[in-house]
Parts: sequence; C-alpha cells; structure tokens
Amino acid sequence: MGDPKGFMTVSRKDAGYRPTKERILDYGEVEQTLDRKDRALQASRCMDCGIPFCHWGCPVGSKIPEWQDAIYRGNIEEAYYILHSTNSFPEITGRICPAPCEKACVLAIHEEAVTIRENECATVEQAFEAGFVKANPPKSRTGKKVAVIGSGPAGLSAADLLNRAGHLVTVFEKNDAIGGLLRYGIPDFKLNKNIIDRRLELFVDEGIIFKTNVIVGVDITRDELLQEFDAVLLAVGAEKPRDLPADGRDLDGVHFAMDFLTQQNKVIAGQQLPDEERILAKDKNVLVIGGGDTGSDCVGTSIRQKASSVTQIEILPKPPETRQDNNPWPYWPNTIRTSSSHMEGCERRWSLNTKRFIGENGKLKQVELVQVEWEKGINGQWIMKEVPGTTEFMDVELVLLSMGFTQPVHSGLLESLGLEYDQRGNVKVNDKKQTSVEKIFAAGDVERGASLVVHAIEAGKVAAKNIDEFIRN
Ligand SMILES: Cc1cc2nc3c(=O)[nH]c(=O)nc-3n(C[C@H](O)[C@H](O)[C@H](O)COP(=O)(O)OP(=O)(O)OC[C@H]3O[C@@H](n4cnc5c(N)ncnc54)[C@H](O)[C@@H]3O)c2cc1C
Ligand code: SF4
Repeated sequence: MGDPKGFMTVSRKDAGYRPTKERILDYGEVEQTLDRKDRALQASRCMDCGIPFCHWGCPVGSKIPEWQDAIYRGNIEEAYYILHSTNSFPEITGRICPAPCEKACVLAIHEEAVTIRENECATVEQAFEAGFVKANPPKSRTGKKVAVIGSGPAGLSAADLLNRAGHLVTVFEKNDAIGGLLRYGIPDFKLNKNIIDRRLELFVDEGIIFKTNVIVGVDITRDELLQEFDAVLLAVGAEKPRDLPADGRDLDGVHFAMDFLTQQNKVIAGQQLPDEERILAKDKNVLVIGGGDTGSDCVGTSIRQKASSVTQIEILPKPPETRQDNNPWPYWPNTIRTSSSHMEGCERRWSLNTKRFIGENGKLKQVELVQVEWEKGINGQWIMKEVPGTTEFMDVELVLLSMGFTQPVHSGLLESLGLEYDQRGNVKVNDKKQTSVEKIFAAGDVERGASLVVHAIEAGKVAAKNIDEFIRN
C-alpha cells in the first residue's frame, strides 16, 4: 500500500473525454488519460483492503491492490506483469469494461471508488511504450492440437493460454478479420482497432495460427474438425439478434444495430461497401430501439454520421440515479448509465413500446409508440400495460434495433455438432466448459448468453485450463 492516507487526502480524478465538438468529427477514441503523477496519486487512494472487494467484483480476479501499489511505486513493469497474469487483454478491459470492480470497491461505500479501469489502461499503454510487452513463445510444444472456433475475446483468451501451455492452436474465424465483436461490433471511438492488432502480432509471433474467412461447419466439417484436433473450443458468440416483429418491420430503413455498426467499423478499416447496401444516418431522424450499450454505440455512430436527430428509447422504466435499498453495495448497481455517446446529443426516453413502423412506397416514415407501465402480477412477475391515450407518432427515417441477442445461431455448425442446449438456447456446458459432445468445449457468449468482454475472457481462461487437462490425460 503506497500511501496509507491517500484515500483521505486525494480525490478521485477521471481523465474525462475529448471535447464533444471535437470528438464527434472523427472516430478516434473519446477517452483521454492523466499524466503519470496523477495516475500514481489515483493509485495511492487504494486502501489495500484486507478483503479486497474489487478483486471479488472483477470477473477475471484482477489483483487490484497489488498492481495499484506497483503503480504508486512507479514500477510499471511489475504492475503490467500482475495485470497480465489474470487477463490476456488488460488494454481492452482497461478501455471498455464497465468496471464491476469499481462498483464493488470498499471506498465506494461512502466515497468515490478508487480509479481502477483507467489505471489499468494507462499502465498497459506505458508498458507497451517502454517495451516491456514482448512475444514470449512457449519453450517446448506438446504435439497436441486445439481448434478454437471464433476469434472474440473468449476464443482469443483461451487460444493465448493454450498456446502458452505448448499446444498448437488454430483459431478459425468466419469474418475477414480477427476479434469478434471487438473488431466488428464495438465502435472505434471506444476501442481503436490497432489495439487489437498490436496484441494479435504478439500472438502470431508466439505461434498461434489464425485462419480468417473460414466458416466452420461449411468450409470444415464436424468430422474433419474432430479428426484433426485433440480438442475443439466453440467461441462463436451469441449472434442471433432479438427482433421486433411489428407491422412494417420489412420497410426500408429498419435495421439491426449490428448491421449498421459492422459497416461503419469496416469502412474505418478501409473497406469499400456498395452504396446500395450502406446503412447511413446522415441527414436522417434516427430512432434507436433498446436502451443498452449496443444502442448507445448506435447513438455515437449516428451522431458521427451527422444524423439530423437521434432518439433512444427503452421499454423498461427509467433506472434510478442512485442505488436502491434492494440493490446494495458491493453488487452491480442497477442505476442509470450515461455514456460518452449520450452526452453527444441524444434524447433518451423510457417506458415506450413500439407498436408499428409506418412507411410510404416501402420506405420508413414514422413509428407508432405508446407509453407503458409495469405492474407486479400475483406471482411476482412483471406485467406490461399500455397507458391509454398515450399513442404518438414519431417521424423517423432510420430505426436501429438494439434489443440484445437471444442466443447463438443454431443452424449450421452447432446443429451439425449435435450439441445439447440449455433452457435459453445457449450451448449447455458443465463447470469445466465441456459440452455434451466429447472433445468439444464452449466458452463466452455462446454458453452464457450475450454478456461482457470481461466475462468472455474469464470463460476462455476456464476453458483453456480444462482443455489442457483433458488433452494431457
Ligand atoms: C455493439 C456492441 C457493443 C459492446 N460493447 C461492449 C463494451 O463496451 N464492453 C463490454 O464488456 N462488452 C461489450 N459488448 C459485449 C461483448 O462484445 C461480448 O460479450 C463479447 O465480445 C463476447 O465474446 P465472445 O468471444 O463470446 O463472442 P464474439 O465476440 O461474438 O465472437 C464470436 C466470433 O465467432 C465467429 N464465428 C461465429 N460462428 C462461426 C463459425 N461457424 N466459424 C468461424 N467463426 C465463427 C464470429 O464471426 C465472431 O467473430 C458489446 C457488444 C456489442 C454487440
Ligand atoms: S476495494 Fe478499493 S480500496 Fe480496497 S483494495 Fe480494492 S481498489 Fe483498493
């Protein structure tokens, strides 16, 4: 513990975002950083708790008090080493994790939490700059081969650890670039793609084989896969978006959020897309349906594309500003979250249901909305009721459906493997991430349902440990 009184003498200081007027003109990362002196001061606020709830709150079990202490002492190499020991991508969680660790920080009971996520990000950047992060290929190989299908954070986390254990790992990806939703979901203004590429270069130098544009299940069959590899990890995500089957859903102008976001990321990566396929918000009134993170990313992207107006609606009621009695520390706070995109100029509304999409000559013109109330039924379940006389019509030319993902896509690969599913349609796994089919493991959104990068990384770790044990025995 650097400074035993730091938490009393130093206030929390966030680096903040680039000025709105400047950042909406480009797709560069919005977040700024503090200088090293301020970082060390922020690290000094950590109380080195006997029971560090931050560590309990962090899905990858980051040893937060230890690396905060190393930052305070100015030992960035040590801080990086501790960070990397529990997470293959601290540079990514340091940018886009919602930081459950900070919500669980003991200081957050009565004060502002210790700065954890930003300190993590800054430390990794300093470590890369100083040349502390180098390729470290395994000293020997086991001769065992593992196929990882899907190159999102779950697949990459497992691939890294299995490769470090000496197994020959091949990562198959159906897209033209590696990264899963990190690459083609999360916008560049939250995560610059050169951050992914920098880590991938190390992975290549360490011996991981990447194969893009390969649809496993089509280009490689189940039997080929099981014959060639000693174990297979499915990390194919939960790609089935929740639809809104209202009247007019097929109008030109109603799209899934992911189609819109992926296009923008591809264009930033230098790809040319045919004009007739392009979904653009420019000069349009945009309605984002769904109040979560994907919706917020659609807001920021629409603003950068120069939409005339952006509205984001949510069917659930507005969350409270502060924790309620039934949602105490150290649990995740179910409070309102305002992202950098929301601050860029968007109207947010809650308790609104979408009744239908209205068009003219096949093109979207309006959306019919109605206010709803939520009441508890006799069995405790929530029941939605329309509020009479609250129907309204909103003029919109683009609707982006951002209501989450229901499950992994079953047709194709998963069906061909003959796997069991859980009640929600995710691939069923045991606590070792083993599926119902021998040799096949699953990790990430495919078995948990759509979640967070940090959960995918942890799932990849658990799968790697158990695959390693499985193929060695
Ligand atoms: C728009 C958006 C923004 C988000 N923002 C955040 C955020 O800020 N912070 C956060 O923590 N989380 C965020 N998330 C959630 C997070 O991205 C996911 O939880 C995480 O990426 C899941 O990782 P995964 O490895 O399980 O799957 P994915 O990242 O979905 O990767 C699965 C990969 O498998 C590939 N694949 C599928 N089928 C096949 C096949 N048959 N053959 C070969 N490859 C295949 C897919 O192409 C994909 O690349 C966001 C999600 C979205 C959609
Ligand atoms: S809970 Fe907060 S104060 Fe305590 S060790 Fe973790 S980061 Fe430091």
